[in-house]
Amino acid sequence: MQLSTYLKMYPCPDQPGMNLAYSTVRSSVVLLPDDLLAAIHDNSLDNGERETLTRLGLLVTDRFAEQERMRTIFDIHRPHTPFNAIVVLNLDCNLACPYCYEDAFRGKHYMNTGTAELLVETIRSERIALGQPVRLTFYGGEPLLSLDLIRAISLPLGELAQKEGVAFSFSLVTNGTLLSRACAEELVGLGLSGAKITLDGPADLHNLSRPYVSGRGSYEAILSNVLDIHGIVPLQLGGNFTRENYRRFPEMLDNLLRSGIDPSRIASVLFAPVVPKSGKPALTDFNTGCACSYEPWLMEAGIYLREETLKRGFPAPKPRLSVCMVELEHDLVINHEGSFFKCPTFMAYPGLRIGSLAEGIGDYRQSHNMDLWKTEECLGCAYLPLCFGGCRQMTLLRNGTINAVDCRREYYDVVLERVIRQDLKYQGAKREPRTET
Ligand code: SF4
Ligand code: SF4
Repeated sequence: MQLSTYLKMYPCPDQPGMNLAYSTVRSSVVLLPDDLLAAIHDNSLDNGERETLTRLGLLVTDRFAEQERMRTIFDIHRPHTPFNAIVVLNLDCNLACPYCYEDAFRGKHYMNTGTAELLVETIRSERIALGQPVRLTFYGGEPLLSLDLIRAISLPLGELAQKEGVAFSFSLVTNGTLLSRACAEELVGLGLSGAKITLDGPADLHNLSRPYVSGRGSYEAILSNVLDIHGIVPLQLGGNFTRENYRRFPEMLDNLLRSGIDPSRIASVLFAPVVPKSGKPALTDFNTGCACSYEPWLMEAGIYLREETLKRGFPAPKPRLSVCMVELEHDLVINHEGSFFKCPTFMAYPGLRIGSLAEGIGDYRQSHNMDLWKTEECLGCAYLPLCFGGCRQMTLLRNGTINAVDCRREYYDVVLERVIRQDLKYQGAKREPRTET
């Protein structure tokens, strides 16, 4: 047996003789004593130890075979993996955030009923009828400006899915101003399973960065909705910080607690930077953790805000196998006109359109440079399962084309151990024989 390529090992200065092992494939965390580590190297583990460490992803029979499995991990056709579509219902918004990355193409553009009907029929015939579960994310602009369209799409799809015995659900990426309790209760009945809402710090900061089109602040309206609905809809709270303001974001968390929001009923809290783009602030409401940057202050800000989040009892996403949706066969963005893209941010690049509801999906292997991480360097990198070449949008912003990986090595070198130790302290983990977590 050999140690997995996709393993990080950190000595524990406060526990001499112990090492923290983290499998980036399995997201397993194991506290390994030096003697067990020596037994791995001597090949003198007993069967139970060998079986446990293999199951946790620390040991493999052949490192080259393991790397080959990673190279082809997304090539395997999995027909019953859910179809995940981000459906852009409009490019309109009732807020006017100065950093919005959709600024260049925002406007009164809405999906029409013909496109919505074609969307339902395409998902019925190409997904549900073949037994494939469907998960939609309604996106904008502000998707709740198109509440009628949400009903017109989710109601028939929910009924068709039920008839075929496949799962159907949808979530929202929303600014939160329109997600009242009555609206949430109705949408839960149609399949709403979660919502991502953005709060950019305490009221004065948020109201500057996320004002209504009229200029009025939106903080109180969003906070009131979060309070009203957090017990009935799993909420992912996000926020976009800058170097100047991130230290004030914990005030917002305190404000949530004071307002009566129960942190154990929030699905997750994740803050992301407003990333400079061509000299202007830009990005992102797509607060999935996709966005990444590696300046030292930013890494410190991320760790600081995660600590402050966990300290107050809010959950934070754990590091796990994650990949740009470009790589995933069953993930798609469908815009208001029915055009297909592989990331919401690519809607700004006509050359990255990959088809439409009418035409189907074209071949995008070359335009999206799909294999750029399949190099010796990446396949041999312990961070590959967390990275797979990073964010294509970041490369586009830097180079104007997807011609290189967005390498996260430096970022993970600084951040990963600290994040794992935060999770051990605040978010727990399972205990294994002869290992501690
Ligand atoms: S390019 Fe990929 S990783 Fe980056 S924001 Fe888009 S989907 Fe996420
Ligand atoms: S891009 Fe960098 S961090 Fe990502 S797998 Fe390749 S070498 Fe590792």
